Amino acid sequence: MDIPFWNKEIETAERSRLEQIQLERLKVTVGWALKTALYRKRLNQAGINSPDDIKSLGDLRRIPFTTKDDLRVSFPKGHLAVDMVDVLRIHSSSGTTGIPTVIYYSREDVDNWTDLLARSIVGAGGTRADVFQNMMTYGFFTGGLGLHYGAERVGMTVIPISGGNTKRQIQTMRDFRSTVLHVTPSYLLHIHSKLGDEGVCLEDLALRKAFIGAEPHSENTRRKLQDLLRIEAFNSYGLSELNGPGVAFECVCRKDMHVWEDGYIAEIIDPKTGEVLKDGQEGELVLTNIVRRATPILRYRTRDLAFLHPQGCDCGRTHRRLSRILGRTDDMLIINGVNVFPSQIEEKIMKIPEVATNYLIHVDKKGALDRLTVKVEIYPKLFLGEVSKLESLKHKIVEELRASITISPAVELHEPGSLPVSEGKAKRVVDERPKD
Ligand code: AMP
Ligand code: ZN
Repeated sequence: MDIPFWNKEIETAERSRLEQIQLERLKVTVGWALKTALYRKRLNQAGINSPDDIKSLGDLRRIPFTTKDDLRVSFPKGHLAVDMVDVLRIHSSSGTTGIPTVIYYSREDVDNWTDLLARSIVGAGGTRADVFQNMMTYGFFTGGLGLHYGAERVGMTVIPISGGNTKRQIQTMRDFRSTVLHVTPSYLLHIHSKLGDEGVCLEDLALRKAFIGAEPHSENTRRKLQDLLRIEAFNSYGLSELNGPGVAFECVCRKDMHVWEDGYIAEIIDPKTGEVLKDGQEGELVLTNIVRRATPILRYRTRDLAFLHPQGCDCGRTHRRLSRILGRTDDMLIINGVNVFPSQIEEKIMKIPEVATNYLIHVDKKGALDRLTVKVEIYPKLFLGEVSKLESLKHKIVEELRASITISPAVELHEPGSLPVSEGKAKRVVDERPKD
């Protein structure tokens, strides 16, 4: 097999060389982190007062973990390490209680991130001859702009179509003969199911690859997509706190994702004890970004469960491979690629005076797509009033939720006492999506 590289020297560097790079960059990153309100105190408490206090990679373990909550508490700038004038871009993701997590990028940060994405794309066999249709949402979400910059750096023809509007996606795939897609697996399945409606068959298209990410999916889903669309599908992993996509990406071997270890230090920990586990053992992924200046983040608990492969890859890259994401340690739901915390929903609906105390979050599939339904009990007198009042209440709840979680759920109004009440700990989320 022909193995493509973006930067062969670094992608195949000896482990000892990689670790030397990691140590150098970790020291620099700690220096930047010491400039932030978030880290200064906690690093000092750990006895780290200057970059020189980091003498080996083992010293990383002296640094306490960072959580999404820490970033929320430091909103908006407690974790910013440069002057605003040096910030080139801001991205943001949902917070558990409505306060978003903000990430700042300097010019150098965008450049480094772009380089990791170019490397990811080329590693998966993308070339400047490809027409790249980027179906991930542009905006605060990192998926759209991240890959956009990476694809441009590779020299691909980029179609910045963003998410949604299936009809236009299909027409665009046909009209411009798109060869590579960036898309969530569920949306790609949905698109496939709609090809017939647009009178389009596979022969009208020039698809050859898809980069699929932003949500969990199984090997079976990958195979299904590959068979249905006659393409190769590559898993892509990232999270906004650590730049966005480009943390780990599959190479042409398609046997799990290389973590770019010159850009990130990956650890797998026991989520209960915090103990660092060995390669091959499943646990929570913890990431440290070692090339980001504006928002250095140390030992970030991703809440994603995975393992690192102990063996190398047939492609010759020395950067370790991360398994697909096997689950989460928290209750975050991923609905068509969008992160939703049940607490965000609760916060909003409990503020609405007409809503009584019981509610249920229901998730299932409608065709290939996830469907979120929020069922709420409302006070009985409301059911005696006009139907139009109920309709406008429903509308109000949808709007409130959309403002918080960015997607529109279906809302059902129920009479008090009609939703199940659990004895003991309330079970507020029913997720009936097939696990395949
Ligand atoms: P965000 O910060 O909005 O980009 O969301 C990041 C989260 O999306 C991660 O922590 C994962 O839970 C999930 N995610 C991203 N990529 C993948 C992937 N390839 N497979 C499974 N989950 C993913
Ligand atoms: Zn490989």
